[in-house]
Amino acid sequence: MIHQMKTSSADAPSIEPSAIPTLTFEDLDLHPSILDAIRDAGYTTPTPIQRDAIPLARNGRDIMGLAQTGTGKTAAFTLPIIDRLIGGPRRTRALILTPTRELCVQVEESFKKYARHADIAVVAVYGGVPVDPQEKMLRSGVDVVVATPGRLIDHLDRQNVVFDDLEVLVLDEADRMLDMGFAPQINKIVDQIPVYRQTLLFSATMPPEVEALARKYLRKPIVVQVGVRSAAASTVTHAVYPVPREKKNALLVELLTGKKHESVLIFSRTKHGADRIVRDLEQAGVSATAMHADKSQSQRTRALQDFKDGTTSVLVATDIAQRGLDISGITHVINYDVPQQAEDYVHRIGRTGRAAKEGDAYTFMSPDEIGMVRTIERMIGQPIPRISVPGFDFGTVAAD
Ligand code: AMP
Repeated sequence: MIHQMKTSSADAPSIEPSAIPTLTFEDLDLHPSILDAIRDAGYTTPTPIQRDAIPLARNGRDIMGLAQTGTGKTAAFTLPIIDRLIGGPRRTRALILTPTRELCVQVEESFKKYARHADIAVVAVYGGVPVDPQEKMLRSGVDVVVATPGRLIDHLDRQNVVFDDLEVLVLDEADRMLDMGFAPQINKIVDQIPVYRQTLLFSATMPPEVEALARKYLRKPIVVQVGVRSAAASTVTHAVYPVPREKKNALLVELLTGKKHESVLIFSRTKHGADRIVRDLEQAGVSATAMHADKSQSQRTRALQDFKDGTTSVLVATDIAQRGLDISGITHVINYDVPQQAEDYVHRIGRTGRAAKEGDAYTFMSPDEIGMVRTIERMIGQPIPRISVPGFDFGTVAAD
């Protein structure tokens, strides 16, 4: 049985979020060194998920956090974990499981950022890179392991790490992990973790599989939900560009040349498509990089780094970049292809409009994709405005 409380429950003691006086991080009673790190990061106010989840986590409660990226969910679990670990013995007391390498590195970076004034050792453990350095780190003793499931199992099999002292387990982006087929690995890992632990599960969506996972691993969890389920971040401006498939590249070049764009993340359905987009943009004088599964880990890391520090302003990615990437200040997300799953639309545009920044999300829709756009509109509960570009529009597509 899952206890639904807090922000959006009908039967919770009814305090509307807006009626709650503004909390500061100081009110959350976190360790002074964490408050210093938060100040360094420039944050002044906890986000809603932080305001709700941090006190519960500090009280040892299991939490089911329904929140997409961009809500501040990473700090919502990272801060209370650091608070718990500070001053303790150097044993592996917290494990965070993440679906992708990119998210894994990002969560590790968050721990390092928020624990920069504390003595907490964190390691990120993910595939596609040599095992040895990770093995060394694990064997030297760490407080926090952030891992993708497959590589963590390799390390468990080699007995590089034991979880006898584990106190907190986080399943981050649980829906995504299940989508990627990680259920057996998660089971195997959790089997090696003490039953008396705190478990925090975060998921952008709550399909029955995630509920089943929560029933299995969480004890009397409190649901903390931010915003309306599946609602797109409100600071994002959406638009759909009706365009025949064969004119998509030309439209992209038209939109991206001649104007200054801080950072544009483009999603392509296929690797070939991503490479072709990069080629066409480069030909038109727009510097762009592709990031997909055919690229080596070092190429992917490099592409991401170049994008983050502004060396390239356009990153063209397949699904690997879809969730969890923390790239602040993205000004545009462009869906070159309409996402196949309506929920993916919400995840993708979660890349922009983060932490109160404005962002635009454009979707190129060819005639065969009209049905998919309508499904997305039903899911987000609002029509998406159409923008016609003369010479590119195919004409016939008013929103329902
Ligand atoms: P997340 O949803 O965890 O991926 O975080 C989204 C972005 O918001 C990240 O770039 C964080 O650094 C940033 N962030 C997290 N908490 C806050 C806060 N309280 N105030 C301002 N920015 C924040």
